[in-house]
Amino acid sequence: MRIAMIGTGYVGLVSGACFADFGHRVVCVDKDAAKIEGLKAGVMPIWEPGLEALVKSNAERGRLEFTTDLARGVADAEAVFIAVGTPARRGDGHADLTFVFDAVRELAKFIKPGTVVVTKSTVPVGTGDRIEEILREEGVEGVSVASNPEFLREGAAIADFKHPDRIVVGAEDGRAQEVLREIYRPLFLNRAPILITGRRTAELTKYAANAFLAVKISFINEIADLCEAVDADVQDVARGIGLDNRIGPKFLHAGPGYGGSCFPKDTLALLQTADAVGVAQRIVRTTVEVNDDRKQQMVERVAHALGGSVAGKRVGVLGLAFKPNTDDMREAPSIPLVNALVERGAEVCAFDPVARHQAEQVLPRIAFATDAYGAADGADVLVIVTEWDEFRALDLDRIAGLLRGKILVDLRNVYDPAEASQAGLLYYGIGRARSENHGAPAAA
Ligand code: NAD
Repeated sequence: MRIAMIGTGYVGLVSGACFADFGHRVVCVDKDAAKIEGLKAGVMPIWEPGLEALVKSNAERGRLEFTTDLARGVADAEAVFIAVGTPARRGDGHADLTFVFDAVRELAKFIKPGTVVVTKSTVPVGTGDRIEEILREEGVEGVSVASNPEFLREGAAIADFKHPDRIVVGAEDGRAQEVLREIYRPLFLNRAPILITGRRTAELTKYAANAFLAVKISFINEIADLCEAVDADVQDVARGIGLDNRIGPKFLHAGPGYGGSCFPKDTLALLQTADAVGVAQRIVRTTVEVNDDRKQQMVERVAHALGGSVAGKRVGVLGLAFKPNTDDMREAPSIPLVNALVERGAEVCAFDPVARHQAEQVLPRIAFATDAYGAADGADVLVIVTEWDEFRALDLDRIAGLLRGKILVDLRNVYDPAEASQAGLLYYGIGRARSENHGAPAAA
């Protein structure tokens, strides 16, 4: 199949490269000329495991091209995927569809009858209808519009794309279904289930999935707070409930609150959709509040570990990206934490294995170390914010020797409290039993 991918970010680039790897011919289009020039020269705009090799091998085989010229990508495509950003609109949290609609107006000039336009971006219910209207306004006829939301996770994006739990296709006509089935055929051979639904249903399915995962995270975070108050251990509670197949073990890790480019904006957009039709979504609304509060509260945990105040203290921070294996800093829990530390007079020295460059743009007031030990050196407290694998096996004796204050605040429960104590560290985890943990502030 000949495919155009409009928007070459996390989703567009990974999807485009994977489609090419299935054997399709893919043209990735982006407005960002520097990004396209970089990709042509083999320079990845994002850090994603395995991506560089996948892009290079498919580009060398002539199946994957990069251009800023929309006409070239769209003119002979059988399917045009839209994978541009849909950020939260400032002020109201509504999904900002400017990039999507601009892309549709632009592609309308070049698209041929019989082509299928597919939204891969996460878009509110009814966006496909609006895209159809815009195409009509632009005089385009004979083009189908389908929804194919993407469920990949940054950090495991290629594996997720190639081995998805399911593929959701919202298509109102046979042509769109046929083209999407053909595009994903290599995955059906691996028995990935394809769910064909109405377009609106597919659009909503993506929001419902992200909202549910956000609920799960906020749920276990509140249970962690309860554990701290009643001297129970959230790790064991999570395991105890997660082994129940009806619940499942994933997304039950207590921590500093969810971040990233999806959950925060998608939960807000779901609430906007619900408000627009006057339907209550109390669970998701509360989840958003719980998570926002939690991200703000993390500084209190550090202050508590330091005896009440962070002023004048040196804080080492391990991990800044919103999760491991990505350089994505969007809505990362590290941002409100580090900003609050700096505002309250702490000096912060952070280390992240790959997100330094992105972090420098959003956290200009901190110093950066070149490894975990550098961040610990001379610090009053070391705070684990993102659970990169390389932070899971630190030499705790060495860390204790480098720290000025022997305090470890482990916001991801990476370490066994007993092991940390053995190394001479005062350990503060999340939702751990009091006997092993030095506890959380009463407010948290
Ligand atoms: P991104 O910001 O990384 O990439 C978007 C790209 O689109 C940018 O490179 C931008 O220059 C380009 N663009 C914008 N307008 C354009 C136009 N008119 N023509 C050509 N290029 C244009 O965004 P992302 O993280 O890849 O997310 C894209 C969509 O996928 C969003 O709706 C997001 O919610 C959804 N999504 C993201 C993830 C994820 O993990 N990042 C997962 C699933 C779904």
